Amino acid sequence: MRNRIFIYLLTAFVMVIATVALAVNFSVRRAWENSFRGDIERNLRQKAAMMSLRIDTDRRNGLSEIVSQEAHAAGARATVIDSKGTVLADSEKAAEPTKNYALLPEFSSALRGEVGANIRTGSVIGVPVLYIAVPVTGGAARLAYPLSDAETSLPGLTRGLLWGVGIALLAALALSGLIAQAAHGRLHRIARFADHIAGGELTARIHDTRMDEIGQLGTRLDHSASRLEDLFRALRESQRQLETLLNSMQDAVIAVNSEERVQWANSSMNRLIASRAKPGVLAVEIVRDPDFLRAIRSSRELHEPATARASSILHGHTFDVTATPLPGGGAVAVLRDLTETERVEKTRRDFIANVSHELRTPLTSIQGYAETLLDAVPDAGHSREFLEIIRKNATRMSRLTEDLLTLARVESGEHRFDVQPVTTSELLNEAVRSFQEIARSQHVELRIEDHAATQVSADSEAVHQVFANLVENALKYGASGGLIVVGARPAGEFVEFYVQDCGPGIPSEHLPRLFERFYRVDKARSRESGGTGLGLAIAKHIVFAHGGVIRAESELNHGATFFFTLPCELHQPEESELASRVGRR
Ligand code: ADP
Repeated sequence: MRNRIFIYLLTAFVMVIATVALAVNFSVRRAWENSFRGDIERNLRQKAAMMSLRIDTDRRNGLSEIVSQEAHAAGARATVIDSKGTVLADSEKAAEPTKNYALLPEFSSALRGEVGANIRTGSVIGVPVLYIAVPVTGGAARLAYPLSDAETSLPGLTRGLLWGVGIALLAALALSGLIAQAAHGRLHRIARFADHIAGGELTARIHDTRMDEIGQLGTRLDHSASRLEDLFRALRESQRQLETLLNSMQDAVIAVNSEERVQWANSSMNRLIASRAKPGVLAVEIVRDPDFLRAIRSSRELHEPATARASSILHGHTFDVTATPLPGGGAVAVLRDLTETERVEKTRRDFIANVSHELRTPLTSIQGYAETLLDAVPDAGHSREFLEIIRKNATRMSRLTEDLLTLARVESGEHRFDVQPVTTSELLNEAVRSFQEIARSQHVELRIEDHAATQVSADSEAVHQVFANLVENALKYGASGGLIVVGARPAGEFVEFYVQDCGPGIPSEHLPRLFERFYRVDKARSRESGGTGLGLAIAKHIVFAHGGVIRAESELNHGATFFFTLPCELHQPEESELASRVGRR
């Protein structure tokens, strides 16, 4: 770098010096010549005037003698001609007899009575000659002075100039070296600073406070570096906070890049896998679970969150995996250990199933004895009324335990559904057939609308249970409308079944919670009509287990419609998928 600056500076100096030297040489030479020639001319004019005076007045010496003396005194050649141009006397050699001197410009002026001056290259000596001619009586006299003397005195000037240039060049060399050295030192500091910053050493500074351009650049770079340092500090701080937060989480978190290589993993994740999730390692090498990997890939490729249940990450543990896409093509996965939750859930389900099971026999017995007593006891006092209450409540409790047992079975995923191709009309007819009598007794028309007329994959007994719960509800709560429609219509890869009544409907605020266990819009009415609050929850679990969805639409005083979907025969879900769906809900 130093050499470059040095060479640039030196070249610039040399060019400036050369230009100045040439300009000086040219202008000084011109000025010198002009002044020198002016002096000579003035001098020669005086001498010519003196010579003219002497020629006109000196009667003692002959013309040749005067001319020779004057030429000697002036250091020039002297010539005298008559008015016709014939040479009368010449200080040097015999003039050319043929030449008409009167025609020469200086002589022609002198013959006209003026002082004539002319510079031209002399034909004999070959150098510029200054001619001054003056009028004399009967002719003209001329002094000729070769100007070569003036030229010969200029090399001294050139020598002086060359000396000056030489000294200036030496000074330029020294100056370039000094400036280059100073600039090099400062620029080198800036280059070192840039290297430090590139290497992540953000505390590096230039500390050049001089007011020139390099100094200003240094100050600005220092300022930028300190801003950068502050930003990095803040960034590192928030990253540390985030890391602490993620490390304190119970859930395992792992982030992968677009090549599915580990970017980061929290301590829960590292505890899960045998080897630490080192950055750069392929996710497949450390987490050998196809469902987990599939969730990550799908969220990366589809740019949307994906979920999965992973059971091969840690023996005996099931994880709920939620993978979310990251900007740049990667994904972050959160793994929640469901083992404990599932264990608690299973204990709860088992407990309910056991209690229900244990209550079954005593309740049947109470029911039986109450019915026997009702037949045997005469209608005296309130005894029959009390017995009727006992029977009714025992029946309700028995229904409740039955529903609880069904729900526990469906929820646990242990219930194996016998999924077979079945036509929509079979399902609809079966649903209506069982309730035809009751409907007629309540003056309600039960209508079938089969717009699908296709086959679905379903366990017909389970679907019948769904229809039974929905039609029973329609009869219980919507009978006042006088019409219940049970239908099916195509919905893409599914068939959508519906049970519509024209009763009082359900206020919209209840719709989102309708399928929860024991959720009832009107508790008293439900109880009175023998409802357990579990019918819709059971229906929901059965439909989910088939890979369908269930929902309700209703408007107050405009009836209620319950919809559920079942897959068409060709789109039957895998059995393992069914089991996992049941377990998840
Ligand atoms: P229940 O045994 O009480 O009928 P469900 O789970 O079957 O329990 O129904 C939950 C609640 O939803 C019912 O208590 C009732 O308030 C409301 N419901 C269900 N079906 C209808 C319907 N067709 N019209 C009005 N309300 C309904």
